[in-house]
Amino acid sequence: MHNTVSDEAVEKLGVLFSDQLLLAALDLIDRDCVIKYVSPWGRHHFSVLGMTDSYTVFPSLHRSCSVPHFCTCPAFAYAVLISQSQMACKHVLATLIAERLSKCVVREMGKDEFVAFLMRQNADT
Ligand SMILES: [Zn+2]
Repeated sequence: MHNTVSDEAVEKLGVLFSDQLLLAALDLIDRDCVIKYVSPWGRHHFSVLGMTDSYTVFPSLHRSCSVPHFCTCPAFAYAVLISQSQMACKHVLATLIAERLSKCVVREMGKDEFVAFLMRQNADT
């Protein structure tokens, strides 16, 4: 029962997030764009496939951080971090909903893959 989202729950999210953002997030989940990578140490992060690019979402950052989540997309940087006009981008919202509904595509990450992932992140910055 807890795997189904009620209209009421979606409405509640609608109060916090704009309809547009919510629909975009649900659309990403519908298209199986939310991929959860689980590392050998039990840590996890998400990769969300966008139209042209894929973005990495880090959920549940440490409590001392001013933002609870982080996404590598430009919208997150501008709308959430700089102008603070939104609480999250559609990727973060999609991971939150997908995790709640167990709709993520889960991929286990081997040690080598995880190291390769870290190298790639560093190469980007
Ligand atoms: Zn994003």
